[in-house]
Amino acid sequence: MDFQLIKNNLSSSPAFVLDAEEIIKTLKVLNTLRHRCGCKVLYSIKTLPLSTVLEIAKPFVDGFSVSSLFEARLADEILAGQGGIHLTTPGIRPDEWDEMARLLTHISFNSITQYQRFASATQAQTSIGLRVNPKLSFVNDDRFDPCRQYSKLGVDIDRLWQSSCLDQVKGLHFHNVFAATDFAPLIKTLEKLRSYFGKNLSQLDWLNLGGGYLFNQIKGHRPFIDLVNRLKNDFNLEVYIEPGKAIVGSAGHIVTTVIDSFVSDGKTVAILDTSVNHNPEVFEYQLQPELHEHDPKGRNAVILAGCTCLAGDVFGEYRFSKPLAVGEKLVFKNVGAYSLIKANRFNGYNLPDIYMFRDQQLKKLKHYPYQDYRRQWLAD
Ligand SMILES: *Cc1c(COP(=O)(O)O)cnc(C)c1O
Repeated sequence: MDFQLIKNNLSSSPAFVLDAEEIIKTLKVLNTLRHRCGCKVLYSIKTLPLSTVLEIAKPFVDGFSVSSLFEARLADEILAGQGGIHLTTPGIRPDEWDEMARLLTHISFNSITQYQRFASATQAQTSIGLRVNPKLSFVNDDRFDPCRQYSKLGVDIDRLWQSSCLDQVKGLHFHNVFAATDFAPLIKTLEKLRSYFGKNLSQLDWLNLGGGYLFNQIKGHRPFIDLVNRLKNDFNLEVYIEPGKAIVGSAGHIVTTVIDSFVSDGKTVAILDTSVNHNPEVFEYQLQPELHEHDPKGRNAVILAGCTCLAGDVFGEYRFSKPLAVGEKLVFKNVGAYSLIKANRFNGYNLPDIYMFRDQQLKKLKHYPYQDYRRQWLAD
């Protein structure tokens, strides 16, 4: 994507800019995998449920994976019967279950108690599975680790092995990595599953390997293809993957404008027209997002800060080859996943406008008017 062209042509700031070609490039990588090994691909819509993204993804995937009633409804609206809707969540609510159950083709219950509570009220068209916690951690940070101690995600593999539950379901689901750039965790997890359940896996119709792998950043897909082929040959299983970040992470950019600059305790601070509230994981996990203009050898160090009243609304210190001027535009890169979906209007600062870049053209997809803010906060 041509960043200068984007900066020159944007008609508003801050802006969330999606690169359609980057999304399609990744979808084609996944599509090739589908054809090479017959795995099925779902887009995990919680990552970025923008309808335009769902429409772009639709022809390349076998459906969407969802985590709630609203996601299931949106998935149903976009797919209109042209793909599966797969759900797993620790939070099935009894008051929503009937409506949700009608929309699902596949469900992976998160616990045995959840299975016992809801399985009998499932529709005939829904294939029932269980989410298993394989008890294999590959993430150092507990906050990202579904297999952490006292995990709330999935049935403990030891518990599942001792119970008779596997005999009663059609599928198993696991999801235990985040932003993985090789298949070693997948190989280990499948080895463990095979060692526990062996031939009993052939009683199942499907196995969902979850998301968390950045397929577009992994060079060789051979190990993955071999794994899927073995699962199909040995157990005659339909194999699903449900990536999220892999599909939109590198395709999303936040373009912002410097609106003030001053020195504080000897360091230059630049205030931007965006804030950590447009990408809350920056604050939640204290991550420093990549900045297109950052030059590690630049002589001008600047602390980039958001425009809200929170003292910690800061992106970090970056370096620039020239001093930053008020009015200048900057681009945060690789922020397509888990940014806009978690964004909020704290302090009354609006959400960014959304643009799509496609065929060298920039098109505005969405502007959130004051009326949206007003509707949210005016009592009925
Ligand atoms: C979040 C999530 C995904 C998608 O994860 P990515 O890391 O974005 O690929 C897939 N499956 C489940 C169960 C999830 O919770």
